[in-house]
Amino acid sequence: MSSDRAKDRVYNFSAGPANLPLSVLQKAQRDLLSLPGVGASILEISHRSRAFLEILADAKERLRTLLEIPEGYEVLFLQAGSRLQFSMVPMNLLRPVGAPAEYVVTGSWGKKAFEQARLVGDVNVVWDGQESNYDRLPPSDELMFSETAAYVHTTSNETIQGVQFAADLDAGAAPLVADMSSDFLSRPINVSKYGLIYACAQKNAGPAGVTIVIVRNDLLLRSDDRLPGYLNYQEHAKSGSLYNTPCTFGIYLVGLVAKWLQEEIGGLAAMQRVNRSKAALLYDLIDSSEDFYIGHAQADCRSLMNVTFRLPSVELTRQFVEEAAATGLDQLQGHRSVGGIRASIYNAMPTAGVESLHNFMRDFRIRNA
Ligand SMILES: *Cc1c(COP(=O)(O)O)cnc(C)c1O
Repeated sequence: MSSDRAKDRVYNFSAGPANLPLSVLQKAQRDLLSLPGVGASILEISHRSRAFLEILADAKERLRTLLEIPEGYEVLFLQAGSRLQFSMVPMNLLRPVGAPAEYVVTGSWGKKAFEQARLVGDVNVVWDGQESNYDRLPPSDELMFSETAAYVHTTSNETIQGVQFAADLDAGAAPLVADMSSDFLSRPINVSKYGLIYACAQKNAGPAGVTIVIVRNDLLLRSDDRLPGYLNYQEHAKSGSLYNTPCTFGIYLVGLVAKWLQEEIGGLAAMQRVNRSKAALLYDLIDSSEDFYIGHAQADCRSLMNVTFRLPSVELTRQFVEEAAATGLDQLQGHRSVGGIRASIYNAMPTAGVESLHNFMRDFRIRNA
């Protein structure tokens, strides 16, 4: 039965919650009624049971291995998405420091992060790409950070506009905080360049409901004990992500996705190679379409995760989305603030799905140009 259902699956280009690796879903399905050796579902066991503690430790260890997280960092599994991190980051890292935090605003998510931080304390925008509708990123000579900044906040991949930093930024002396929600685990990163990394799981790492925070131990000391318990990173670190009942199913799936990355993909460098070649299939087609397809992002900051482009008219855009959906290429409508098309091609999107979209785009242009 499960293989028939698998055949029904469309290629899902949703920006998030996004597709998950088929083998991960099948494993979760096989074990849903009873985890091997446990006799109960992951949905039914205590978060303090030995079985769950092993799942939690395994997920954490796999993330440490995949990302080569050095000593001196905690890995936390929290809830309420990256949106809560927009507030928790300044609550924990800004208030105790006498200097403002600095925000690099490269798209809709960075802007939202800034707006939430402003409610908490003193924050400055050091760069904002709004003028060109967030189609580009600052070259490093446009970025000047204060050495005394409480932290510098960036968004590694802007999911809505489809712009992505090609490499880890350098924030100088200030701790670098990055929202990696939509490119987490899509490539190797140098964790030691960051003070704090956060990512909700539902783009690349698992289902909605769990958010991963990787934080350097010295920054945990900034958390003020007058903060409400759930909002305090140090509380979560002290309790090993068991301050409250965590998203047990989500953590279990993050562990399965990490295992898939290790054992079926071969690690993050291998994943990056696949992601590069998937994205190149679409960008090369856009570039050779004689302006039938017009990419939103400038060529040197294009995202490997969210490919954003426009067609010559709103009418053709609608037709594109409808015809694509009819052939099993689903959820290609762009975000309302950018318009056009957005193809999200996260880790779990198979190359065959991108090839299928590529062929559809080629034929659609021939029929409509
Ligand atoms: C999806 C996303 C968010 C919001 O995540 P929630 O889990 O809905 O809070 C924040 N930042 C980026 C870059 C995202 O892609």
